[in-house]
Amino acid sequence: MFKKPFFNRVALIGAGLIGSSLARVIKKKNLSDKIVICARRDETLSTVKKLGLADTVTKDLEFAVAQADLVVLCTPVGAYESLARKMSPFLKTGTIVSDVGSVKHSVISMVKPYLTDGVHFVPGHPIAGTENSGPESGFDTLFENRWVILTPQPGTDQNAINKVEELWRCAGAKTEIMDSKHHDRVLAITSHVPHLIAYTIVGTATDLEDRLKAEVVKFAASGFRDFTRIASSDPVMWRDIFLHNKNAVLEMLGRLTEDISTLQRYVRDSDSDKMEELFSRTREIRRSVIEAGQHIIPTPEKD
Ligand code: NAP
Repeated sequence: MFKKPFFNRVALIGAGLIGSSLARVIKKKNLSDKIVICARRDETLSTVKKLGLADTVTKDLEFAVAQADLVVLCTPVGAYESLARKMSPFLKTGTIVSDVGSVKHSVISMVKPYLTDGVHFVPGHPIAGTENSGPESGFDTLFENRWVILTPQPGTDQNAINKVEELWRCAGAKTEIMDSKHHDRVLAITSHVPHLIAYTIVGTATDLEDRLKAEVVKFAASGFRDFTRIASSDPVMWRDIFLHNKNAVLEMLGRLTEDISTLQRYVRDSDSDKMEELFSRTREIRRSVIEAGQHIIPTPEKD
């Protein structure tokens, strides 16, 4: 157990849904003396200021990370390599570097080579989110009862791992340590391929002729609606996830394609027994998800 505040200075690089939610938690739970937020656009920084999420806001990465004892990368993963290269000369010995990226193996390959021996790298991924982006979309209960997967490499300083775990526990999350490649396979099937399907279905509907398209929107409540919610997620973030988890996504997509062909055959053959058996099995999975408390879509608490 660490004494609060755990950190003297936390630097969050990126202040969108995840970075701003983490800032809210750090502030509310008094986990750091100072919070510094770094982003690219003036508009983002002035919103962060207006919301009172940080003690200091800056576009200057070097200034943001100098003297920080925890740096958390909260941008789309495609920006990580350049951020790691630019910030590494300014990190002090003993700093913990972590992140919230949705892929982990490629994040380690992009960031780790730039970090010196005295800097501890504890990659992380909160399995929590919504389809919304930007600092105003964050809220301090986003991580409650969610899993945060940490993928530190063997030999990482245990104290640094414990501290990052404790930070996420203070956010109400449960933590699990996992191998990065395993993380990427699990997330490919639980998150990345479902998003890919949503982007495809909504894309197919957009290409329909005008009359049919209008009716798709009108009668969306019959199932399409849920896909449109998922398919409205940030395009840059999702582009980067598919670019950086290519192998695991293609592996799971291969399996899915085979299973779609099997179901296609059941439909063509009017094989009612096989269809009923499959749909009963999938219903069981939904029950397990509910029992595990993972069915609730996180929303900000109303005042
Ligand atoms: P977001 O709302 O789109 O915010 C991204 C933030 O990153 C913005 O503040 C943006 O700043 C900043 N940024 C982008 N490129 C930058 C750069 N080169 N230098 C400095 N700042 C930069 O994103 P998010 O949804 O919070 O996602 C952030 C990360 O969390 C991603 O890696 C994603 O994989 C992971 N994640 C997301 C979810 C989810 O459901 N959204 C869930 C789990 C994990 P400007 O506004 O100034 O451009």
